[in-house]
Amino acid sequence: VNKTYRFDTMADLVALAEAEDISLGEVALRHEVALGQLDRDEVLAAMRTRWATMKQSMEVGLAAPQKTMGGLSHGAGQMMAGHRPVLSDAIAAGVMARALAVNECSAAMRRIVAAPTAGSSGILPASLWGAQQRLGCEDEAVVMALLAAAALGMVMANRATISGAQGGCMAEVGVSAAMAAGAMAEMAGAPPDVAVHAMALALKNTLGLVCDPIGGYVEVPCIKRNAIFAIHATTAAEMALAGIRSFVPADQVIAAMKEIGDAMPKKLKETSQGGLATTLIGLEVMARRPRVDHVQG
Ligand code: SF4
Repeated sequence: VNKTYRFDTMADLVALAEAEDISLGEVALRHEVALGQLDRDEVLAAMRTRWATMKQSMEVGLAAPQKTMGGLSHGAGQMMAGHRPVLSDAIAAGVMARALAVNECSAAMRRIVAAPTAGSSGILPASLWGAQQRLGCEDEAVVMALLAAAALGMVMANRATISGAQGGCMAEVGVSAAMAAGAMAEMAGAPPDVAVHAMALALKNTLGLVCDPIGGYVEVPCIKRNAIFAIHATTAAEMALAGIRSFVPADQVIAAMKEIGDAMPKKLKETSQGGLATTLIGLEVMARRPRVDHVQG
């Protein structure tokens, strides 16, 4: 085995894990250690800090409505948390509430963990919270799942993009959902190849998702999209655990994402010049905005 634990593709990642009978999270951990900056305990401590920050952002967003920059969302997380689920269950509703809560925090410039970006920051913490509730596992299992998510995200970032300005929302929310799906599958005991199928199933079904934030604020559609795609991630993980495989191998899905992102018109890549941003209501919001000098991703 390559002792740098270096991986460029999902196939490499799975091969490394299978060669030593270790998890994707363990490959990511060994890779970080092999880089020589941190030892094993320091990497784990850094990830524990990320999980603590994620938990804090879920709590902050649920505790009170956040004052977002554009004022286009207010208390959606709280509203969802106070709702008695009718068509799903309490944990699924809790996942939705937490994804909304974290993204309201992000839009209010509160502290969040970009995973992989601020606009998609609700999906991973909310999904892992849900998996932890269902599986009854300790925080240490979540920390390893975060490492698995990081490994999956790194391949997608290197082989394609995690920027809405480059690849549309599939590169942000799509990648985040794919990271969460693979991480949740691994948390639930799936072997590495199955976790990667979960990742591929999640990403594949976000292909073509454009980035068209209203008024240039990362609020509409971003905040509610996080809740919807957290559940999408859970669906992908559950399907993989059921034995359903992505017909298209993960690395080919990533290549397709890159191709589609490159072909996507600029007006649908974080410029707020098309799609939802130029609907009548979107243009009204834009007209109210004093001056758009920066669009965040
Ligand atoms: S629509 Fe654009 S700004 Fe909003 S989450 Fe998606 S990529 Fe980010």
